[in-house]
Amino acid sequence: SFGIVEQVGEGVSDWQVGDYVVATVRRPDGCPNCLLAESDMCLWGTYTERGIKGRHGYLTEYYVDKPDFLIHVPKEMADLAVLLEPTSVAEKGITQAFKIQERLYWQPQNAIVTGAGTLGLLATFLLRARGLNVYTMARTAMPYLNGELAEVSGARYVNSKEKSLTQLAAEIGNVDFIFEATGASSLIFEAMAIIGNDGVLCLAGLSSSSNTLQVPADAINMELVLGNKLIFGTVNANRRYFEAGLKDLATIEQQWPGLLARLFTNRIQRLDNFAAA
Ligand SMILES: [Zn+2]
Repeated sequence: SFGIVEQVGEGVSDWQVGDYVVATVRRPDGCPNCLLAESDMCLWGTYTERGIKGRHGYLTEYYVDKPDFLIHVPKEMADLAVLLEPTSVAEKGITQAFKIQERLYWQPQNAIVTGAGTLGLLATFLLRARGLNVYTMARTAMPYLNGELAEVSGARYVNSKEKSLTQLAAEIGNVDFIFEATGASSLIFEAMAIIGNDGVLCLAGLSSSSNTLQVPADAINMELVLGNKLIFGTVNANRRYFEAGLKDLATIEQQWPGLLARLFTNRIQRLDNFAAA
């Protein structure tokens, strides 16, 4: 939803015409979480979302929104700011994992990211920026642009058709963190079985079908209990994660100049030519 402010309403003080802006996606209902500006944690589930649930999205030349839902973008970040929304989703999952892990002394070394689409890659970069050893796994064999981009950041790309999650885990030692961005339930249950002691599995991928699956439920439960392991789900992001994401995008750009720009394979100017997208 990256754009430029064309007009400012009466009583709005911190925005000017010409400012660069990214708008958030979710709009609150009246639940306690939404009232406290964390609509991403909505209790009632009656929120709306621009372009997803009950509201028009941003495939339009102009839109109107309230300052509460708008994020200032410095002009140096304008070319990359369209990445901010997916970054905010990865940012939330990773930030919350670290926050929850304040329950113990936790110095994560090894992370696996399942999925190498935009969300998986951004999660890879965020974890690399935090200094973890990252293994990014997806189904496509190299040469594969997204695999190469993961490796530019110092992650290792793993083709899941050549090596399973279980095999990978056996090679790398304690798996401290898994960011799951595929929604593939067979992979998710395999991930549950291989998280290391004190480890975290962050589920950020939606499953689209109604698959059933046979799993070693007793073994999974026993390992989760004996290893103090954590599994949690995360979706969407409130403005705190957009603001943190903007800083982290700048960090990534500084650390690996030009890497983020390589995520754009086909830039379309304005909407006149939108079919080409
Ligand atoms: Zn709510």
